[in-house]
Amino acid sequence: MLIQFGLGNYKSEPSSVTLIKDCEDRYFLSFVVDIEPVSLDTKSQSIGIDLGIKTFAVMSNGEKAESPSYKKLDRKVRKLQKKLARQHKDSKRRDKTRIQIAKRHNQIADTRRDFLHKLSTKMTRENQAIVLEDLNVSGMVKNRKLSRVISLLSLREFRTLCKAKSAKYDRTFICLSRWEPTSQVCSECGFKWGKLDLKVRQIKCLNCGTEHDRDGNAAKNIEKVGIGHCHDSKCTSRRSKPTSVVSVNEA
Ligand SMILES: [Zn+2]
Repeated sequence: MLIQFGLGNYKSEPSSVTLIKDCEDRYFLSFVVDIEPVSLDTKSQSIGIDLGIKTFAVMSNGEKAESPSYKKLDRKVRKLQKKLARQHKDSKRRDKTRIQIAKRHNQIADTRRDFLHKLSTKMTRENQAIVLEDLNVSGMVKNRKLSRVISLLSLREFRTLCKAKSAKYDRTFICLSRWEPTSQVCSECGFKWGKLDLKVRQIKCLNCGTEHDRDGNAAKNIEKVGIGHCHDSKCTSRRSKPTSVVSVNEA
């Protein structure tokens, strides 16, 4: 079997094909293929990306990417789960509810996947080097609301996608350790103002007078530090354990 990709006239024989059926009776074909890096012109040399829960990504060039909201779907899932708990086991109605829950989960997963793929593709196609900050996810999962957990999982998935696509487009991918004080320093003059309360969103540098947006300033520092590390070849990509806070398997 030959598969044709959207990028160029690349043709490859898949080494394996897997047929997947999900709990909503949808069928998917999954292929494993070898690819060569694709060379594309870039818009800029490098970009720093500050990831967060409130605004998903703030870029060093001033762009922002908001995550889709999962709150509505989250609420529906919770409601259905309560209903499921009350229903008799082995009943037809319970089965119906189970499938409804699976559908909602699929909806969430599809929305999320689409968003993450589009953003990571844009970032890796437009920039020669992508710098992210390693995330302190374990410390952030205190609030266990589903929509919040989804956002957290998305942050990690985004990193994985950026890394994979960087290889695909022949880009440099840098992941900084989270101990880097990217929010404590002025990105203009390097003045260190120290730790800031999370509530502080705007900062005016006492040294040079520049007014910064907190996340934008962090993104600029992330880019700077990342490119510096790149020259020192001190690229850190510490792997953190996957958290199993949410289970989306309803089958
Ligand atoms: Zn300054």
